[in-house]
Amino acid sequence: MSTAHAYGAPSPTESLVPLEIERREVGPGDVLIDIKFCGVCHSDIHHCRGEWGEVPYPAVPGHEIAGVVSAVGEAVTKHAVGDRVGVGCMVNSCRECENCQKGDEQYCLPGNTQTYGSIDRDGTVTNGGYSTHVVVDEDFVVRIPDMIELDAAAPLLCAGITTYSPLRHWGAGPGKAVAIVGLGGLGHMAVKLAKAMGAEVTVLSQSLRKQDDGLRLGADHYFATSDPQTFDELAGRFDLIINTVSAQLDIGAFLQLLRTDGALVNVGAPSEALPVAVFSLLLQRRTFAGSAIGSIHETQEMLDFCAEHGIAAEIEVISAAGINEAWERVLASDVRYRFVIDSSTLGD
Ligand code: NAP
Ligand code: ZN
Repeated sequence: MSTAHAYGAPSPTESLVPLEIERREVGPGDVLIDIKFCGVCHSDIHHCRGEWGEVPYPAVPGHEIAGVVSAVGEAVTKHAVGDRVGVGCMVNSCRECENCQKGDEQYCLPGNTQTYGSIDRDGTVTNGGYSTHVVVDEDFVVRIPDMIELDAAAPLLCAGITTYSPLRHWGAGPGKAVAIVGLGGLGHMAVKLAKAMGAEVTVLSQSLRKQDDGLRLGADHYFATSDPQTFDELAGRFDLIINTVSAQLDIGAFLQLLRTDGALVNVGAPSEALPVAVFSLLLQRRTFAGSAIGSIHETQEMLDFCAEHGIAAEIEVISAAGINEAWERVLASDVRYRFVIDSSTLGD
């Protein structure tokens, strides 16, 4: 066992505080990662505040981990000391169910082992990347291409893959009109990725406050959803809408923006239900779907795609002591566009 410096929530209502946590011994198939940067995902907030259900406390979040391998177990073949690597939202899965066998371990039927808040194989609760180091099974560690800086790569491990996967699954590409709802961490990656795939990209944000950024990130069009005119003007326009909003939304209004056979895919994960009027679906054979992260194989594919297209996250690097303030800014939709913790400040 080894001790890591970390930041975590003591309860659903308290701010994050410095903590010391134990990491398991490096087993035969494990990789020890010296964490350099960890992105701040809105899921970290939902989880630590208990919005998704019961949580074991203290809770150390963080599932956008970028670092360097500092030790490997004797059976490890995929990674070596000194490699630049990443870990996303899961650190293991059953490996036996139909979905794991297909390589869709994010949809592991008994449930995958999440990077934080899950029961690990040794019976302890997993702790995330707001920490100095982590021990992870080599199969759940991906390679970060040399041309992507580690700080800007970190958010790709969740925000990147969570938007890449549905864009690919629903065929974003040339000739397809894609709308991204919410220009936050996930949203800004969705814009960059959809553009690189060749789609015509529209941002649907609450206001025009971030319009210049949205267009600079690659969007072809930008509309404010606070303006009712937007919904008249864009009716029936899109093949695919990716909703990244972390709060409840009038899904029916957005479904009207889909063409016949279009799909609205929810990746945002508010705790509240999103009611849907059946007629907004059946009259134009529209689909309302959901999508969770992506597989390990697809995560590697996404990182390689980003390297090839010169894509990474737009980040604001913060010290560990700035985490609570950063969370408040995420909650106020004032993130541009991902906070990333510099892990070297965790032991200060
Ligand atoms: P984020 O950075 O806070 O971005 C969310 C954006 O949604 C905001 O920037 C804002 O964009 C918009 N928004 C926020 N509150 C809103 C409201 N009340 N009404 C309308 N729009 C609102 O969050 P994130 O890290 O991208 O995560 C987004 C959601 O995805 C979270 O719920 C997170 O838990 C979930 N998530 C899901 C997966 C998955 O596997 N499916 C993975 C990661 C995260 P504008 O200011 O542009 O309107
Ligand atoms: Zn996340």
